[in-house]
Amino acid sequence: ADTGADAVLEGLDPEQREVATTLRGPVCVLAGAGTGKTRAITHRIAYGVRSGVLPPAGVLAVTFTNRAAGEMRGRLRALGAEGVQARTFHSAALRQLQFFWPRAVGGEPPRVLERKVQLVAEAAARSRIRLDRPELRDVTGEIEWAKLTQTVPEDYPAALVKAGREAPRDPAETARVYAAYEQLKRDRDAMDFEDVLLLTVGILQDRPDIADTVRRQYRHFVVDEYQDVSPLQQRLLELWLGERDSLCVVGDAGQTIYSFTGATPDFLLDFRTRHPGATVVKLVRDYRSTPQVVRLANGLLAQAGGRAAEHRLELVSQRPPGPEPVFTEHRDEPAEAEATAAAVRDLVRAGTPAGQIAILYRVNAQSGIYEQALADAGVPYQMKGAERFFDRAEVRQAGLALRGAARAGGANDAALEGAVTLPEQVGAVLGTQGWTPQPPSGTGAVRDRWESLRALVRLAEDFAAARPEAGLAEFHAELEERARVQHAPAVDGVTLASLHAAKGLEWDAVFLVGLTDGMLPITHARTPEQIEEERRLLYVGVTRARKYLTLSWALARSPGGRASRRPSRFLDGLRPGSGAARGRGPGGGGGIERGSGPASGRRRQREPARCRVCGSSLTEAAGIKLRRCADCPATMDEELYERLRGWRLERARELGR
Ligand code: ATP
Ligand code: MG
Repeated sequence: ADTGADAVLEGLDPEQREVATTLRGPVCVLAGAGTGKTRAITHRIAYGVRSGVLPPAGVLAVTFTNRAAGEMRGRLRALGAEGVQARTFHSAALRQLQFFWPRAVGGEPPRVLERKVQLVAEAAARSRIRLDRPELRDVTGEIEWAKLTQTVPEDYPAALVKAGREAPRDPAETARVYAAYEQLKRDRDAMDFEDVLLLTVGILQDRPDIADTVRRQYRHFVVDEYQDVSPLQQRLLELWLGERDSLCVVGDAGQTIYSFTGATPDFLLDFRTRHPGATVVKLVRDYRSTPQVVRLANGLLAQAGGRAAEHRLELVSQRPPGPEPVFTEHRDEPAEAEATAAAVRDLVRAGTPAGQIAILYRVNAQSGIYEQALADAGVPYQMKGAERFFDRAEVRQAGLALRGAARAGGANDAALEGAVTLPEQVGAVLGTQGWTPQPPSGTGAVRDRWESLRALVRLAEDFAAARPEAGLAEFHAELEERARVQHAPAVDGVTLASLHAAKGLEWDAVFLVGLTDGMLPITHARTPEQIEEERRLLYVGVTRARKYLTLSWALARSPGGRASRRPSRFLDGLRPGSGAARGRGPGGGGGIERGSGPASGRRRQREPARCRVCGSSLTEAAGIKLRRCADCPATMDEELYERLRGWRLERARELGR
């Protein structure tokens, strides 16, 4: 029967076809950015499913971010391969853990720990070690690294030496805090993100019957971005596989950017040693970027050291020529942001959809000034890794309750008896959700929930002041309208994202901003390995661009400030007029553009809370804290998040009783 399987192979080159049609045995694809790795494995799954070789429910596709998993599901659906699981390691593991915990251990699985740093602080206090906030973050990072590399506290100091890892502080002290932290966590029946993987691995290892159950379900495994697999994730993958070998991995050692979480390209590069019979495919045709962008990417690759250099493959662009990448130097950061926003606006006016443009930076703390500049220029934008107010579970739930009360006209609702003014009525309805006008003690998640509900009461106060005649129904309509307006710009705005979050994605136009020495490489990258990883981040950034690419930096932080910065050292030899790039190609010697535009006034930027792991911002407008970093795999994912939300609501209910 014609299941349309062959149609799935159309639009693949011969090497990609080989990947897509090799459905048996281990397959490894080693290839550079934009060569169609993700496309090849997506089509492979679709081809396998539609030709009847791979049962959809038996396939597990693993990616490293929720966003990548979501994209994969979308692409598979479009190719007619529904029912395939595409998940992150964390979400796949957590799901399995929840499923087999009652049988393996009994009872409920431990709750997922939300405020890790807080517990590390307690652990430090118990160990009589004084740590300030940055130190706490460092130690937390070290604990994460130790756990991901399966290092117990006693072995931590030795493991550092073995890994050639520079510890941020006294290893013996860190080991003590680590041990105390583990004890505290056990006492409270909690698990952290690393535990999700560790416990899943532990149970699959110890309980062959449970491993069997899991193996009966999943029989074929596909891993994207395999260069970022950690030893622990690799172990999990091996346990899922058992004795079987239906594994297809794709990756690019040149894009390893998560070493600090224990990830290593070794598993990718040594794949054939572990699987001697493996089919290894290399792809070199770059379908994403113009020859101009690819030349810059190749230039960066040529400078790369470390293991990435072992399998260096020159990329060959398959696209028609485009403009030369632009290097722009600015006086100060506001000028850089303003010029970037103006360039974005010009592109949009000239016909590039805003959704096809991205501004990428090293850490999310850099985003504020670009948000402001885009808003000033009237360009819609969306940020990655932030949750909007009206998307929060408690706000949505409160919205439903308000709607119910408005529909009932307040008349026969006992909760509204006594409540006269609109804010009072809103307060009363929220009271049915467990909200009280007095804040709960402490600063945890319960407090955060309280804050967002209080924000609703404040909205009601403002609304009542502006429209004294309005009632609950009008207020509810106002909320719906606000939610609609706040959601609208996200549909097709310019993307603001960190380089880590941009991995695997692409845009017609990419602006790499803030490229100073100190930002890229970032100041805390010290060892040669860390510096190499920073260079790979730039490579990831450059290779996101299809056509337009701008690289910019500012010599001073603020207008009138001292011009004390220099452009990223990685640009030496790449930018026009410097070393190797001189005189190359049309426009290659064009020199650096000087950013112009009026200097804008100093703007105060809120310093957002950051993800400990990737530096991404954890805050959102209106000062509402976000519990999740969507940018990096070392943090929570959707399911974990849902669980936490459920837990928070439960706690809030308890409190309300
Ligand atoms: P990265 O390393 O950044 O993850 P990748 O190797 O996974 O990149 P893809 O994202 O799969 O690359 O593909 C890059 C772009 O090239 C996509 O827009 C994809 O649709 C396109 N592309 C890939 N292969 C082909 C092909 N054979 N013909 C036309 N376009 C292709
Ligand atoms: Mg990819």
